[in-house]
Amino acid sequence: MPAEVLAQAAHEMLDWHGSGMGVMEMSHRGKEFQSIYEAAEADLRELLAVPANFKILFMQGGGLAENAIVPLNLSALRAPAGGTGSADFVVTGSWSEKSLKEASKYCQTTVAASDKAGGFTSIPAASTWQLSDQASYVHLCTNETINGIEFQSLPDLKALGSQAELVIDFSSHVASRPVDWSKVGLAFGGAQKNLGPAGLTLVVVREDLLGHALPICPSAFNYKTVADNGSMYNTPPTYAIYMAGLVFQWLKRQGGVAAMEARNIAKAELLYGAIDATGFYMNGVARGARSRMNVPFFLRNEALNDAFLTGAKAAGLLQVKGHKSVGGMRASIYNAMPIEGVQALVQYMQEFERTHG
Ligand code: PMP
Repeated sequence: MPAEVLAQAAHEMLDWHGSGMGVMEMSHRGKEFQSIYEAAEADLRELLAVPANFKILFMQGGGLAENAIVPLNLSALRAPAGGTGSADFVVTGSWSEKSLKEASKYCQTTVAASDKAGGFTSIPAASTWQLSDQASYVHLCTNETINGIEFQSLPDLKALGSQAELVIDFSSHVASRPVDWSKVGLAFGGAQKNLGPAGLTLVVVREDLLGHALPICPSAFNYKTVADNGSMYNTPPTYAIYMAGLVFQWLKRQGGVAAMEARNIAKAELLYGAIDATGFYMNGVARGARSRMNVPFFLRNEALNDAFLTGAKAAGLLQVKGHKSVGGMRASIYNAMPIEGVQALVQYMQEFERTHG
């Protein structure tokens, strides 16, 4: 979270704009919260350049719930009446693998491409994807948070001969770069990386994809029901929406998503440059697939891992330990991480190499 957003929220905690109540105490249908909600939605639409024919939904459940909610709503799009339909998956890491497994409970699934055998270190070229004729959608995780793999551009499914809609899980890089909506049918993401606190889930969906949910889809997770009720069919995560709204205002003050992208490129180049500079550290992801947000790296001498982490903590560099399924280190350098934070990490890495190399 940007520090100035946290300070503003603290300042407004007990009394929001002289209303005599804090945001957590407001009715979600009252005029105060409505104004917070409308501003958040409008700011997000502007920041992400979401076209008018897409709905912005503020939901609950997180990215993992969306792994079920997406097939429950979209798998039947192109299926014969009464059928549950099918979906294609491009498996590029832990999160798309989870999405595939979950969707398989609700519809037929096909792996169009996978880099599991390669240890999730690259993105299979779109020209090699085995897209099925009848799939309703193709699922991608456009930034694999654990494996540090990011799509640098979105595939044009039509050009690949597919009639399916593109679904992207952009949880861990939303608002860090622009989205080409002309290629996308639906995007979803948990808020807790770049947008705000956990508890809010963002869904951006093209209007014509609404209204195809399977009969078993829970009402609170039916996109059409959520959209028809302005994300207030059930009580939305009001405080998380308020916090995300403050982050959206902060993003606009920074110059918007294009400015964030430029900053994120500079941050990522600095860190990957330090990793690649000598043989002491290493990142195994193919250059063109490296994530700007999540940078896993390893010490070639893994016996030094504990010393590296202890020293990092002492230097004020927290949460550098890699995900347990991958090991090593991982620097998550989301939007709110300033370049100074990356500079401090790089300085520490160089110092550690001097003293332990
Ligand atoms: N997708 C991606 C890309 C993620 O990084 C995460 C969480 N780290 C999830 C899905 C799951 O999100 P949640 O924990 O909010 O359900």
